[in-house]
Amino acid sequence: MKIAITWDYELFFGERSGSVEQCMIEPTDRLLLLAAKYKIPFTFFPDAGCLIKFEEQAACHQALQAIKNQIQVWDTKGHETGLHIHPHWEKSSWNGQQWEHDLSFYKLSDFSAEDASDIVDRYATYMNSLLSQPMQSYRAGGWCAQPFTPVAEAMKNAGIHLDSSVFKGGKNTTKPYQYDFTGTPDLSQWKFTEDPAVLHAEGVFTELPIASMNYSPLFFWKLFVLGRLNPSQHKPIGNGLPAKGGGSKKELLMRTHRLCVSADGYFSTQLNRALRRAKQANEPFLVVIGHPKALTPFGLKTLEAFIAKHREDHEFVTLSSVL
Ligand SMILES: [Zn+2]
Repeated sequence: MKIAITWDYELFFGERSGSVEQCMIEPTDRLLLLAAKYKIPFTFFPDAGCLIKFEEQAACHQALQAIKNQIQVWDTKGHETGLHIHPHWEKSSWNGQQWEHDLSFYKLSDFSAEDASDIVDRYATYMNSLLSQPMQSYRAGGWCAQPFTPVAEAMKNAGIHLDSSVFKGGKNTTKPYQYDFTGTPDLSQWKFTEDPAVLHAEGVFTELPIASMNYSPLFFWKLFVLGRLNPSQHKPIGNGLPAKGGGSKKELLMRTHRLCVSADGYFSTQLNRALRRAKQANEPFLVVIGHPKALTPFGLKTLEAFIAKHREDHEFVTLSSVL
């Protein structure tokens, strides 16, 4: 089976964004060491809006240079880069200390079709200028890829033909999020035009969904207890706070949740279960999502063990190579 491990490379969007060094550079350096050790490629989705905003702010130029250097390092080493859009950066302001975000403009659908298309166009042009090869794939910030129609033309013009924003069964309509993937086709991949969660046989885009599965309350009990008992192993390397709306802690401890197969922190303990299920279902590939900012020392070890165990009998590939 082909396994694509993908990383959304970004700061936090809550009350504290965290530092570029701790949320992006340091954890990604560790991932690149891991990739080199096992000779496997990753796919990175850098938050393009962040980089463009940093260009405008002299106080961020040093951090921006570190980000650009790191992108260049992974680019020359054969890792793939895709387009990742958190458009709220358009409305963000620098207060002299850190960025302040207006999350009422969290997703592209919060903008007019014209503005959303312009964002896609500018962000893709900017990112491609940093890369040796043009991007092929897209991942919406916060999975909010619906509706797609207003930006479809701009995506096509930018050379994007793959999307990996959908995870089967996922749904979140708590502000600022808005996505519903409960009615996706029962397929490993599919063509689409207007909505990445809906099959359209003549579509020019291909959906490569992020793998998903159920996580029981017990999983979250363990996650929270271990975090308390052993913070040095389970505390994220990234030092920011996530945006609200991702589901309350209490909810997670009370009912089963359908979430992405993830390499973030303690979620990495479920990678073997995800792979077993994918094999049983004869899936041709497994797309895993992760965030450098959410890596933990424990998670890195677990991820390394997963890669070491499976690199002989499976093929680790970039996202566009799962096709
Ligand atoms: Zn993101």
